[in-house]
This record gives sequence, structure tokens and C-alpha cells, in this order.
Amino acid sequence: MSSKCIARSSCLSRQARPKILLGHQYFRRTLLTLAIETSCDDTSVAILEKLSDSTTLHFHQKITSENRIYGGVHPLVALESHQCHLSTLVQKALSSLPPQRSAIAHLTNTLLVDGDLKKKPDFVTVTRGPGMRSSLQTGIDTAKGLAVAWQIPLLGVNHMQAHALTPRLVSALAKSEESATTPAFPFVTFLVSGGHTMLVQSLDLCNHEILAETTDMALGDVLDKCARDILPEDTLKEGSSVMYGPLLESFAGAPQYVPPCSNKESNRTRSTPYQWSLPPPYCSEKGSGERRTAMEYNFSSIGSTVKRIMSRNPSMFIAERRVLAQETMRVAFEHLISRLFFLDLSSLQTIVISGGVASNQFLRRITRSMLDARGYKHVQVTCPPPALCTDNAAMIAWTGIEMWEAGYESGLGVTALKKWTIDPSRPDGGILGVGGWLRRNS
Ligand code: AMP
Ligand code: ZN
Repeated sequence: MSSKCIARSSCLSRQARPKILLGHQYFRRTLLTLAIETSCDDTSVAILEKLSDSTTLHFHQKITSENRIYGGVHPLVALESHQCHLSTLVQKALSSLPPQRSAIAHLTNTLLVDGDLKKKPDFVTVTRGPGMRSSLQTGIDTAKGLAVAWQIPLLGVNHMQAHALTPRLVSALAKSEESATTPAFPFVTFLVSGGHTMLVQSLDLCNHEILAETTDMALGDVLDKCARDILPEDTLKEGSSVMYGPLLESFAGAPQYVPPCSNKESNRTRSTPYQWSLPPPYCSEKGSGERRTAMEYNFSSIGSTVKRIMSRNPSMFIAERRVLAQETMRVAFEHLISRLFFLDLSSLQTIVISGGVASNQFLRRITRSMLDARGYKHVQVTCPPPALCTDNAAMIAWTGIEMWEAGYESGLGVTALKKWTIDPSRPDGGILGVGGWLRRNS
């Protein structure tokens, strides 16, 4: 590797992938990374290896901090959990590093773990932002320590970019020798998590245009809060964390669903057998007409209507609660998908749903049904498997590998970024707009 400089330009092409000279032949290098994710309440570590024809996830585990008594993520509890569990997970991960069998093995690319020779990672990847600053910094500090101790580079990557790239990781993990990593750029994604709700067009690795974004709460957050209001106490106790979205889904069951056939119909309030109904956002009496067609989301009105309905009838029967759970998800998901139909979709081939809420089967079904009802039967709906939808270190590892292949690494001075967009047209300049990137020139 030769000189390094601060990078602000667009990414290198995939051909920039490092190669090594062995004998008289060029061999594509394999890439091995240890990755750390600590942006919120999950401490996760992964070891991912990319060979020229296959990708293997050697290790992937996470521990979620116990926040249930607070009813939401408590930053200090999350921080303490990262401090308590991260090193233990890293220690555990090391024994899953692939064995070092190379004939050219020497100290610079080998680790001795419990008496076994292991391949040393080529670089350490860590989530740099966005997220809770103290939680992020715990991961970053550990990653820096490993990078310095092992004398390998560091890559501090964007968490939302990682969610957006997850379907490409899934494709790489499943890939046969000749098939390309998919979806190919450009593709469109609903990024729906506990902290974010965006409709994004991914143009290339570092250029993700935000087409629509929430103006208040994230979809996952509103589902968690509605679940707390709707679900009976004993059902809430079954949850393993404060992320109550999965409980809301299983409590609601699999309701019949008839999609709206037009934007106008999407804006209509549907009646229920009960004395309440759930109006779509921007469509209540106070809703402003212009915002009905704006490329933005607003979920707080769903949360406040659900709260009002439950406060009027705190001992609501289970059957009615179930319908309220179904309606909450239907209205929220239809609002999410409605913005897609404000765009010219003539060349759309694939729509990806990524982030924690993408695990919801009803969301997948509604997306499919709404596309079909509008004449987009040919558009593919792709969702990563649930374990890769929620926060996880495997997606961070994959993002590190894609960024590395594009020629990037991070300086050891990088610090946590509470906010960090993925759109280069935003004031912070997006992924490459922040300082700290180093560019390999060779
Ligand atoms: P993330 O921030 O990407 O880790 O996603 C976490 C969010 O996804 C939380 O708000 C969860 O409640 C939500 N979530 C996870 N699984 C589901 C599901 N099956 N249905 C609805 N929301 C879910
Ligand atoms: Zn996330």
C-alpha cells in the first residue's frame, strides 16, 4: 500500500479490489474482517470472510441490554451492557477465525488463539454512527485497540449504509461461483428501524439518495409504543427486550388484507366493528392537504390515536385489542408504502425492505399486495432474513468489506457520530462527507 490521503470523492470501482502477486500469477486476495456493532442496545460481533467465489460468516452473535423496566432504551444501561459484554464476545469470536493454512503464513498474518494458528483479520470494522454516542464510542475504542494491537487498518462505517447493503450480504452468502452480488446498484429500499424510517434510492456504495424520511417518530419506535398501549400486561412480559414490534405482530395474527387501489383510497379512513377507527397520517380533520402528497412520513398521529383509544377503554377485550393491533400495523405500513407511488416507478425492478421492522411478515405482505394492486407485479420485493434485519455486526462487516474494496479505510482518530446521513446532498455530505476517511492510492 502506498500513500494515503483524505478522501471526499466518489467510490472506486469494484476492480480496485486488492490483489497479491504469487509466483507469476495474480490472485484476488481474500478479505477477512472482525466487526463490531454497538450503536444502540445490541452488542454484536461478527467475523466475515470474502473469498473470490464465496462469502462465509464464521461468527455472529449479539447480546441485547436489559431495558424492560425503563420501557425504552436507557443510554447508561446500554453503555454498561456494551462495556460488560463486548470484550467477552470478541474473545469468543477469535476461536472462530479460520485456521491459518497458508504456505506463506508468517507473524504478520497469523494469530495464535488457544494454541491454534488462525488467520489474522485484514482489518477491523466498527459502526461509527449514527447512534448513541457513548455506545458507539465503546465499540470504536475496542476496535481501535484491536487494530493497533494487530497492526491492521480500521474501518468506521455508517450503520444506515449497512442496513441498506444487507441484501447484498445475503446474496454474497448465498452466492454460487459466477453469480454477481445483488441487488445491483441502483435499487430502492425502505429502511425501517427503531431509529429511522426512510425511502432510499441507492445509486452506488456511498450515494444513497433519501427520497422520503420521517418528520417525527421512526416506524419501529411507534410500533413499540403502540404495542405497549395495546398488548395485555402478561403478553408484554413475554418480550425479551423493549422492542415490542415482534410481539405486536404475533398478537395481531395474520389478518385478511385488501390493498388500497389508488392514492386517494390510501387516504381514506377504514371503519371497524368498534367505536373507533384509525385515520391514516395527514388525513385527520386537522391534517393539512399539502402534506398528504409530500415525500415525508409522520407516524406520531398513529401513536396518539392508539393511546386515546386505549385510555377510553383500558379494560378492552382481547378481540378488540387484536383488531387495534392489526389496524395499527396496516395504517402505518400503508402510509410507508404510499410514498413509493408518488414516484415514477417505470424502471423499478427491485424494492428492498431492510432494518428491524422488515422482519414483519405483514409489512412484506402489504408491500406485495399494494404493488400488485397498482400493476407492479413484476417488481421484486426482497427482505433480508430477520437475524440480519435487526441491528447486527454481520452487516457492519459486509459494509467494511465493500468500503475496503472501494479503497477506503479510517484514521485512528475517528470518533462516534450521533448523526450521520447516507445522502451526499445533505449538509454533512453523507457517508464520505465526514472527516476521517483515508484512501489507499494503490
Ligand atoms: P433496528 O433498530 O434495526 O434494530 O430495529 C429494531 C426495531 O424493529 C424495533 O423497533 C423493533 O420493535 C422492530 N421490529 C423488529 N421485529 C419486528 C417485527 N416483526 N414487527 C414489527 N417491528 C419489528
Ligand atoms: Zn439499525
